[in-house]
Amino acid sequence: MQQQHETRTTERGSFSIASCTCGWCGPARRSRERARVDAQLHRSRPETGLLTTPGGVTVTRRG
Ligand SMILES: [Zn+2]
Repeated sequence: MQQQHETRTTERGSFSIASCTCGWCGPARRSRERARVDAQLHRSRPETGLLTTPGGVTVTRRG
């Protein structure tokens, strides 16, 4: 079964947050451009890179 990844950016106050139909959401960014980059990274590598929990805690993997 293939998971679809449709990302979008949501504005919350002065922050922009990338989110995805798979349930992923990125960290709050002060710049919409950064949120868009987060979304692009997620789409290209859904299983690596930035991971966030629904509680909003950001986890970054370190090689
Ligand atoms: Zn996704």
